[in-house]
Amino acid sequence: MSDQPALEVIDVSVSFGGIHALRNVSLSVAPGARVGLIGPNGAGKTTLVNCVAGGLKPNEGDVRLYGRSVAKLSAPLRARLGIGRTFQNLELFGSMSVLENVTTALDVPMVGIPRRSRAREDRARAALAAFGLEKYAEVPAGALPYGVRKLVELSRAFVRQPRFLLLDEPVAGLSEPETFLEALVDGLDRLGCAVLLIEHDMPTVRELCSQVYVLDSGAVIADGTFAEVARNERVVTAYLGANVD
Ligand code: ATP
Repeated sequence: MSDQPALEVIDVSVSFGGIHALRNVSLSVAPGARVGLIGPNGAGKTTLVNCVAGGLKPNEGDVRLYGRSVAKLSAPLRARLGIGRTFQNLELFGSMSVLENVTTALDVPMVGIPRRSRAREDRARAALAAFGLEKYAEVPAGALPYGVRKLVELSRAFVRQPRFLLLDEPVAGLSEPETFLEALVDGLDRLGCAVLLIEHDMPTVRELCSQVYVLDSGAVIADGTFAEVARNERVVTAYLGANVD
């Protein structure tokens, strides 16, 4: 299993009526790697996310998780096979405690965890600890600042121990992305799963990703390290402009 890429998107095409949202897109994320996906509005990033995690079935091509095709599976089935994701909009229960929010992420058919067991709570506490959130365990999620709630959402994704994680614009809307980013990097380092990061915030992409793919009008126009794509003329014209800082 370990010699297979965590995620492979192979020649994926998706059309909505006459709109070609994705055209022969291929990308790969190695086990443990953090890869970025960037591009202008309408480039096809959300469509790609949905092809990987959301149950959207491509018109052509394949999506493989550690070598197994998931392209025709439902979103819940993909989640059970180890695909985790966070959402652009927070999906927390404000009146429930942080700990409850994280344990309820296990309220899906999971292998080997009885609903009312101590193991569930232990796992939830470990997921909170990975992001430095132990002190908030008993606090209602709705009472916490936005940045902390975003970290709680990451804990919700991690408690299910995904083998591959999609991070959908994790720093959007944050007033202090640096503090959040520090906790995010720390948590990802400890948990070590493969990540595909969709993000418009370039310092975050530069900090987190060893490799970056650039989408424009449904096609991959460049890939490489952040430094490589940042000086690619097509990428500068389509997306980054002259200023990436
Ligand atoms: P953003 O950064 O604004 O979220 P994006 O890169 O995620 O953009 P997509 O949302 O994937 O881009 O959209 C790609 C193209 O497909 C766009 O032209 C969009 O209008 C179109 N599209 C996406 N979903 C649908 C749909 N369900 N029906 C019709 N067209 C769609």
